Amino acid sequence: MSRETLANLIFKNELKTPEYYLEKYPERNLKEGARVVRYAPSPTGFQHIGGVYAALINERLAHQSEGIFYLRIEDTDQKREVEGAIEDTIATMHNFGMNFDEGMTGEETSKGEYGPYRQSQRKEIYHTFAKELVKKGLAYPCFCTPEELNEIREKQMAEKITPGYYGEYAVYRNLPVEEAIKKIENGEEYILRLKSPGKEENRVECHDLIKGDVSFPENVQDIVIIKSDGLPTYHFAHAIDDALMHTTDVIRGEEWLSSLPIHLQLFDVLGFKRPNYAHVPTIMKSENGSKRKLSKRKDPESAVSYYREEGYPAVSVIEYLLNIINSSFEDWRAENPDADYHEFTVALDKMSKSGALFDIVKLHDVSKNVICKMKPEVVYDYYTTWAKDFDKEMFDLVTKDEAMMKEVFNIDKEGPKPRKDFGKWNEVREKIFYFFDELFDLEKAEDVELPKTLNLEDAKSIIESYAKSYNFNTDQETWFEELKTLAVELGYATNRKEYKKNPENFKGMVSDVAGAVRAALTHRTNTPDLYTIMQIMGEEKVRERFNKFISL
Ligand code: GLU
Repeated sequence: MSRETLANLIFKNELKTPEYYLEKYPERNLKEGARVVRYAPSPTGFQHIGGVYAALINERLAHQSEGIFYLRIEDTDQKREVEGAIEDTIATMHNFGMNFDEGMTGEETSKGEYGPYRQSQRKEIYHTFAKELVKKGLAYPCFCTPEELNEIREKQMAEKITPGYYGEYAVYRNLPVEEAIKKIENGEEYILRLKSPGKEENRVECHDLIKGDVSFPENVQDIVIIKSDGLPTYHFAHAIDDALMHTTDVIRGEEWLSSLPIHLQLFDVLGFKRPNYAHVPTIMKSENGSKRKLSKRKDPESAVSYYREEGYPAVSVIEYLLNIINSSFEDWRAENPDADYHEFTVALDKMSKSGALFDIVKLHDVSKNVICKMKPEVVYDYYTTWAKDFDKEMFDLVTKDEAMMKEVFNIDKEGPKPRKDFGKWNEVREKIFYFFDELFDLEKAEDVELPKTLNLEDAKSIIESYAKSYNFNTDQETWFEELKTLAVELGYATNRKEYKKNPENFKGMVSDVAGAVRAALTHRTNTPDLYTIMQIMGEEKVRERFNKFISL
């Protein structure tokens, strides 16, 4: 009996031939140098920021080379699958400025000529190629039970040799075809393994586009290619998919680097041209002087949802990730403050080879710069979109008077040094609450911040006088001159120099008087331009606030 009989027994259903698929998925017609890359997540529901980071590298490389960026769903481990995860992935990527040219477009829909793009729908393709390997004697059924595998492992551990299913330990590797057929006919359970052609003494080399030249011992393990549920392992599926989809560059997390010898071997055994590989360093976090992986359990910032909830604009996260991808992004940004980030060219060979450090403080800084450059209308749109989901009270307040809000978001924006107020939208409330009586009136006397040099009683007495002399309808210069005049009348110096010369002659400086006015209107010491705040509030509210302050 032949291997052909065995192959037909294992794969009973009618299958196409490998040639059929090779013809069905021809070389892509793209310009020289165009990269075909993919984002290939498992739909487990949890989106790690590392996924966005890897996807961004892929997306930039594809689109800056006029290539193809596609979405392939790797759902061969169906126990881990979560409903809705595919749509969630697509929406997330879209939100982070990444659009797929090809691949899954929903839970069941896709676009492109190289599909299906969901591994669970590609079973026949995997079987076709696996069947061919069985026919050629390059794959075989293995009937080991979990207990037998355990025994083998224990023996290897006791003898202190490499664990696994290989060489003499691969008990079914050389089982005569007739016996394999008999076992299958008897209904014995099995999986399919690769008959590894690797030799321990040989090495396999590869030029990783990020890590540089890497070299490993050849793979000798007879790895599983088709599991007992008929689905392929990641190793096998990825080789078939990337070959048939004509991926030029497999850019993926460095946790896969150690599997590279297996993957290169699979490409060779299947007769496929090897793609380029690039293994992206894991995102790390610095903690107590040492580095560790960003952990799903310990670090809220590992989840993509965190950035949305906190209110980091997606573009801030993108800019920050570009900083991690290529440290030269920072200089480029400084030289091109207004350029679109798409104009920056991502280069794999300029990536750091070891762990990329993720620093939320730096992200916050980057984000402040990003928001600071946004027009007030844009800030308004972003903020209301965020507040609608995460701060309904602010959403209701802010949308009551859109025109006023845009003025608020415009304070200190013009001019050479625009104010960098917010890094994320959940910081806005505290920075603008005083424009709304509904929030301001909740404050208590102890919430009032005053300049260090003033106590509440002094501040109240300043406001009593100021309320009498204050003119609302003046320009900024006159307003300040009038404030100074009052300061002098009340015994405050008009500037620091004068005060420093003879401090005993003064109660303080004009800045204390301005500080009292600021405190009365906002209860805070650090606010944007006071005159503008007053103009936006309007005379009525300003006077009301003075009265409230005096009777605190
Ligand atoms: N499904 C694999 C993962 O989520 C993809 C690795 C790859 O990009 O090839 O880790």
